[in-house]
Amino acid sequence: MKISLASALGTCFGVKDAINLALEPQFKSDLTIVGQLVHNHQVNESLKTNGVSVVNGIDEIDQIKTKKVMITAHGAPEKLKKKLAEAGLVVFDASCPLVMRVHKTIQLMVEKGYFPVVIGQESHVEVKGIVGDLDEYIVINDEGDLEKLKTTGSCKFGIVSQTTQQVEKVENLVRKIRQMDCVEDVAFVNTICQPTRDRQIAVRDLADQVDLMIVIGGYNSSNTKKLVQVCDERNVEAHHIESSSQLEQKWFINKNHVGITAGTSTPEYVINEVHANILNIAQEMGCLEKFDVH
Ligand code: SF4
Repeated sequence: MKISLASALGTCFGVKDAINLALEPQFKSDLTIVGQLVHNHQVNESLKTNGVSVVNGIDEIDQIKTKKVMITAHGAPEKLKKKLAEAGLVVFDASCPLVMRVHKTIQLMVEKGYFPVVIGQESHVEVKGIVGDLDEYIVINDEGDLEKLKTTGSCKFGIVSQTTQQVEKVENLVRKIRQMDCVEDVAFVNTICQPTRDRQIAVRDLADQVDLMIVIGGYNSSNTKKLVQVCDERNVEAHHIESSSQLEQKWFINKNHVGITAGTSTPEYVINEVHANILNIAQEMGCLEKFDVH
């Protein structure tokens, strides 16, 4: 049996930068993060251990006890940042530049007269940030949502995507929109970020070679769920776990090639723990000598 790591996996630069900023000594427990800095349980726990506080969102602004606050890598509307500053707080912005690119792109489209459309999950904090400063918009997540375009009264649509969407899904939805009778003009900028694309391509390549994939990442991590989806689409058995303790020996019975991938919020040490635990399981199963680790 072989164990292979995806050629691109784990923490992206946006998440790394955000975590590093939150852990800077200048804050010395005087920092509250507005929302989860990243969708990863272990990272958020380690931030708390370092004295960093967290509130769920703007609704909990009165619970902030520190002088400094941080916007997460997922970004936030300008009006939220303004509200925090008006409350006398010093705002540190860890928004990923690739998320900010989506904000700027959709704003530009609106200025050019396009009705803004975001492909993504309406309830996701990144999408809330993208649309938070817009007067009108629609968010679509699947073909069932396309009807929403007809309710806008517009025939000119500017489309962007949540950074962690699946490439094929986004391209398919844009194709469908272009074919709609009510649509005359479409401006589309594919704003899926490069680290997400790299991880999707890598998991696809690996899924074609393995008979079991272990996908590591937060259960609320959008891009991790997409990695599982890629495996499902290829009928490859995939198990989504957050930590190495969740690995189950029975998954590995009669498997020839095991793949490991991880979402953009998953730290390297968690990937290493999972890798090591798979080796332990193999040892317990008495087939470690057969493992060929890549
Ligand atoms: S997933 Fe992409 S957009 Fe999100 S933080 Fe990472 S690099 Fe930035």
